[in-house]
Amino acid sequence: MYSKNIWKDATQEKINAMMQFCEEYKTYITMGKTERLCVAQTLELVKQKGYQDLNAIQSVQPGDKVYLVNKNKNIVLFHIGTKPLTEGIRVLGAHIDSPRLDIKQNPLYEKNDFALLDTHYYGGVKKYQWVTIPLSICGVVVKKDGTTIDVMIGEDEADPVVGISDLLIHLAGEQLQKTAAKVIEGEDLDVTMGSIPLADCEKDAVKANILKLLKEKYDFEEEDFLSAELEVVPSGKARDYGVDRSMIAGYGHDDRVCAYTSLRAIVDMEEIPTYTSCCILVDKEEIGSVGATGAQSLFFENAILMLLHAQKGDSLLALRKTLEHTKMLSSDVSAGFDPLFAGVNDPKNAAYLGRGIVFNKYTGSRGKSGSNDANPEYVAWIREIMDENRIHFQTAELGKVDQGGGGTIAYILGNYNMNVVDAGVPVLNMHAPMEIVSKADVYEAYLAYLAFLKK
Ligand code: MN
Ligand code: MN
Repeated sequence: MYSKNIWKDATQEKINAMMQFCEEYKTYITMGKTERLCVAQTLELVKQKGYQDLNAIQSVQPGDKVYLVNKNKNIVLFHIGTKPLTEGIRVLGAHIDSPRLDIKQNPLYEKNDFALLDTHYYGGVKKYQWVTIPLSICGVVVKKDGTTIDVMIGEDEADPVVGISDLLIHLAGEQLQKTAAKVIEGEDLDVTMGSIPLADCEKDAVKANILKLLKEKYDFEEEDFLSAELEVVPSGKARDYGVDRSMIAGYGHDDRVCAYTSLRAIVDMEEIPTYTSCCILVDKEEIGSVGATGAQSLFFENAILMLLHAQKGDSLLALRKTLEHTKMLSSDVSAGFDPLFAGVNDPKNAAYLGRGIVFNKYTGSRGKSGSNDANPEYVAWIREIMDENRIHFQTAELGKVDQGGGGTIAYILGNYNMNVVDAGVPVLNMHAPMEIVSKADVYEAYLAYLAFLKK
């Protein structure tokens, strides 16, 4: 089952199931351009599947399905198992934030008859990739009276899009002498909003016109940008990629591909699990998992405490035991091997598209720094599950030893002394506006997560 191309021996039945699953996934990422939109879609799905708000429940029994939403950007789901919580739970944890450009608090200005919107990029981006492509603005504006206004510009086919300009090649001689990190500077990632001046307006008439249009459509004022969360993201739908339709091109595979497959694994589990199943979708991974909605938040721990309380056993010891006995897959994407950039990988410890879910025993960079290095006992336990269920898996490092690397949420949950290993889908063009995954890996990750929850 090891390092073998899934397409080679997949039955037609499996390929059909794969394709169908990926159609549903494409809809999820097309509709889920922000973490809030991912939470909203997730909530809709789990409610259909009989999940109830844990806040509204006094006690929980095996077979119960509950959820908790944290500040609209972070959600946790539990399917209560037959074993006591203190024997540990099975957690799938993924992040639903993706790299993008956030709008600043004082963003709008006018220059040379253009209205522009100032941004601050979020997460690790190659800035030059974000110019001259169609972009959308998605998010919320919250007014002082507490009203939340949903903003979505550029996703509907009939909508205009926005974008960021780049210098024409004819005048780019000096620009092209710069290093790629400096060709486009962070402060220059400003979004073009419009160019028509408002009639009878002397100063900043183009900006005034944009504000008028925003007021008409969304009913907010310029100063409401102060309490907004607007994200500039690549516009358009996720699409099939490759003439053979074997892959998906889309924005935000990192890490919505593992979020969706983890989510589907827990909601598709029909029988009552032995160990309580859990899926947690977190925010802020791309900037260090910090803050109330990131993996470092006490939200997860509080949720476990609430479950223990609902079973009349919420002692500190019970909480610590539950966490310590828990097993987790940190569902996050890994770097897919790219033949055009083969030199950055050790080919025998790299993840290949089409060869299944990839386990990163450790990530980290330059000497495993900052890594959650999973215990071999745990990795062996996982291998057994994969083989029992005939799941295609591969193992990889994030590039060559001295090449760089990266991090996930694995080490944060590892701090509870639970066993955690990174497990996800290999991605090409990670963090680019258009990322690529193989449909075979998406489906295999889903099957792997399901097998893990059932063990
Ligand atoms: Mn990630
Ligand atoms: Mn990432």
